[in-house]
Amino acid sequence: MLDSVGTTTGPRGDAGETRDALWRAFDALPAGVCVTAPDGTVVYANPALHRLLGHAPASLPGLDFNTLATQDGGADPAAAPEVRERLLRRHDGGAVWVAEAASAIEDSSIASPGGGALTLRVLTDVSHHRRAEAALRDQLLMKEVLFETLPVPVFVKNAEGEYVDCNDSFERYTGLSRRKIIQKTAFAVMDPRMAKAHEEQDRELVVNWGQRSYEEAVPFADGSTRMASLTKAVYCDSTGNFGGIVGVIHDLSEGLPSEERLQTILEQSPIGVSVSRRDNGRIIFVNTRFAELIGLKREDVIGRQARDYYLDSNQRERVIERLRLSGSVVNMEIQFRRADGSSFWTLFTVNQAVIQGVQVNLAWIYDYTERRNMEEALRDMASRDPLTGIYNRRSFMELARSQLARAHRFQEPLSVFVLDVDHFKRINDSYGHATGDDALRMVAGGCQSILREYDILGRLGGEEFVVVLPGATADESRVVAERVRRHLARMAIPGPEGRFHLTTSIGISALDGSSDTLEKAIHRADLALYRAKREGRNRVVVFEPGM
Ligand code: GH3
Ligand code: MG
Ligand code: MG
Repeated sequence: MLDSVGTTTGPRGDAGETRDALWRAFDALPAGVCVTAPDGTVVYANPALHRLLGHAPASLPGLDFNTLATQDGGADPAAAPEVRERLLRRHDGGAVWVAEAASAIEDSSIASPGGGALTLRVLTDVSHHRRAEAALRDQLLMKEVLFETLPVPVFVKNAEGEYVDCNDSFERYTGLSRRKIIQKTAFAVMDPRMAKAHEEQDRELVVNWGQRSYEEAVPFADGSTRMASLTKAVYCDSTGNFGGIVGVIHDLSEGLPSEERLQTILEQSPIGVSVSRRDNGRIIFVNTRFAELIGLKREDVIGRQARDYYLDSNQRERVIERLRLSGSVVNMEIQFRRADGSSFWTLFTVNQAVIQGVQVNLAWIYDYTERRNMEEALRDMASRDPLTGIYNRRSFMELARSQLARAHRFQEPLSVFVLDVDHFKRINDSYGHATGDDALRMVAGGCQSILREYDILGRLGGEEFVVVLPGATADESRVVAERVRRHLARMAIPGPEGRFHLTTSIGISALDGSSDTLEKAIHRADLALYRAKREGRNRVVVFEPGM
């Protein structure tokens, strides 16, 4: 202990022993320790300091400490006032940064040989930190320069979505100055709809983490808006938490769209696109949709003959003819063949073009099958009676008239019969209208099951049906009508009170001479039907003159 030291008279007195004990204690310390006299002369230096400065053991005492220091690092304002960083010269000519904590040894028993208090210096090697700090500073400077000189607009937002930084390019591109945007969100600096779109992207980015590219409108320096592609990435703060978002703007409106963009547009097109050479008909490009429609992989379509995909050679001839005459085909309805042999309808458009010196046909195919099916169904619906599914009056008349014309032309027989359900009103009244509807459906079905394929069955209205039998005389017709009547009479129709039966009356008329019309024939059959009703119903009557 220093306070136990006695006098300072002799070098080998008590004081000397205390000092030796202290030096021995310092000898064991891993940090550099040095004791200097007021004039700077090194009185003691421990082995760690000798190693730090590259001096031979015990060679430092006697040297002037100030000659070891090359530079004063200046006091660190955050550190205690007696701690400072300085650069010490090594014996080999190099230098080492140290943090020096210096304090006076107040105890007068350990004074310098020339009198005056000694100074204790503890020197810790900080060159590693200094190097790391310098590297970091360099890096920051480099990034700062990069950020500012980058010809691409860049901005940084914090976790709250407020702009915290942007570069000169960003200011020039958007016309938004740092001063105006810092600590503000997108909503404060652009149109709300635009801001919302960007913030939604930011939200997605935060949820999915990582990086994200998207196209959206951004403000432009002239006050307009421009479409731009933005690439945004999440960054973490020093604690590893979400720090904010860095964004880069790529202008899209300058110059032509890139090949990559065109490719993307083609790929996302709902329309199949193909390019084929005009000299040999080979397909040299298709988009994914085209390959999908054909049912092959893209690479399997390339190199094939375009003509392989037409289902109907007549349609292909028409396309070729139209191309020859007008140079293009627009929305032609063409059937194509899939790889599995099935077919599909397309709206087909072809234009001729020259791409990189090669004459090509550019073809667009739009899958039209569903639309066409729908149209067919609609057409069909318009010709059918919705209750029974058989021909309605209008389409029956149309079809029957063409059969009549044919019969006239070939002088073949044809007859017509009109069928009416007996006392149908009673069925409605007894069992309800819905059961009446069921009965009408069953009557239609029952007729169809007896008639031949080329007989035409229609619903004239209410519970009245009409049939045209091409090639049948009145007598032949009577046989068929009888069969129909008997069949319908045997049908058990489900009603609310169990099954019931119905009867029908039928009037028949054959074609009468070369000037006969469908209307006249039906009228005669009607007259025969009245007779059947009058005679007691549930019967077939053939028209006779005078009825
Ligand atoms: P008749 O033996 O003289 O032919 O007697 P009827 O009762 O069958 O003849 P009428 O012409 O008096 O009655 C026909 C009935 O058919 C009247 C009408 O309400 C009914 N009707 C017409 N169309 C429909 C329909 O679509 N569904 C149902 N359930 N009933 C219908
Ligand atoms: Mg009736
Ligand atoms: Mg009737």
